[in-house]
Amino acid sequence: MANKSHYRVIILGSGAAGLTAAIYAARANLEPLVIEGSQPGGQLTITTDVENYPGFAKGIMGPDLMEEFKRQAVRFGTETIFGEVTLVNLKQPPFQIVAGKENLTCDTLIVATGATAKLLGLESEAKLMGHGVSACATCDGFFFKDKKLVVVGGGDTAMEEATFLTKFASDVNVVHRRDTLRASKIMQDRAVKNPKISFIWDSVVDKVYGDPKAGGVTGVRLKNLKTGETQDFKTDGLFVAIGHEPNTKLFVGQLDLDPAGYILTHDGTKTNVPGVFACGDVQDHVYRQAVTAAGTGCMAAIDAERFLESQAH
Ligand code: NDP
Repeated sequence: MANKSHYRVIILGSGAAGLTAAIYAARANLEPLVIEGSQPGGQLTITTDVENYPGFAKGIMGPDLMEEFKRQAVRFGTETIFGEVTLVNLKQPPFQIVAGKENLTCDTLIVATGATAKLLGLESEAKLMGHGVSACATCDGFFFKDKKLVVVGGGDTAMEEATFLTKFASDVNVVHRRDTLRASKIMQDRAVKNPKISFIWDSVVDKVYGDPKAGGVTGVRLKNLKTGETQDFKTDGLFVAIGHEPNTKLFVGQLDLDPAGYILTHDGTKTNVPGVFACGDVQDHVYRQAVTAAGTGCMAAIDAERFLESQAH
């Protein structure tokens, strides 16, 4: 249950962007409310070691990092509630938010609902997530030095991740469900020319082998969609790179979105609705890093604070 029904700032999402916005808004005495979504802590909670977040020279576990973010936000007076937001009305301020049984209003809204990596939807994939299965090469590639890897996908993300992973892996095998790539010509060429990358066409991964408690992924089962044949393929890791989906369904028709559904921002974190700001992966399909999400979260809180100040005069 929220303590109040009206807030100066409500933040939707509790990943790196949302909680950083909360830290800054709370330290500005705005007493923000964070509504934690269906994945409290955001995408970092599905990764294990985070080694590229500045300030943690020895690395930190993703869920632990997000717990620290949350404690820091709460320390300065952030209130948090769990709840699936079912309605957002941005027609005029105060903005209306319905989350579960809560009917709330706010003067400014910070949208930090993130993006969700698309997954294959296999039970074995879910079981081994963070234990050899990953949806983020920059996060987890380093753990696969001289290992054998499989990347699924045929778009720019798959080519970029496969190419990046060759810095570590002994060989990278791209599994694509068709025999032509969707990726841009330049990204395709780079991957095709890379001697460490090979392609397995017309195929999908329909099972991941391994034990999360005993070394993680050991292999995948490949199914050729043209012949129907299956074969077991040895690999130490599986990177799923079949795209991301921004969590913006609630804002369709209210906030300007790009063709892929990401929120369009201008002049920092401003959206097309004055008083509504967006930060983190929900408005960034390029960098998608914890540190960049945190950076834009900070910007959103400062933008919200300045907006409130300008309204007061
Ligand atoms: P895309 O939607 O472009 O590609 C997704 C790929 O995954 C496709 O090849 C698709 O196959 C395949 N796929 C989708 N679902 C499944 C599934 N269930 N099983 C197996 N394969 C599947 O997504 P991207 O993330 O690659 O790119 C998104 C956008 O971001 C694009 O506009 C891209 O250009 C851009 N981008 C740009 C980069 C850059 O310029 N540096 C880097 C990364 C992304 P199929 O082809 O058969 O549909």
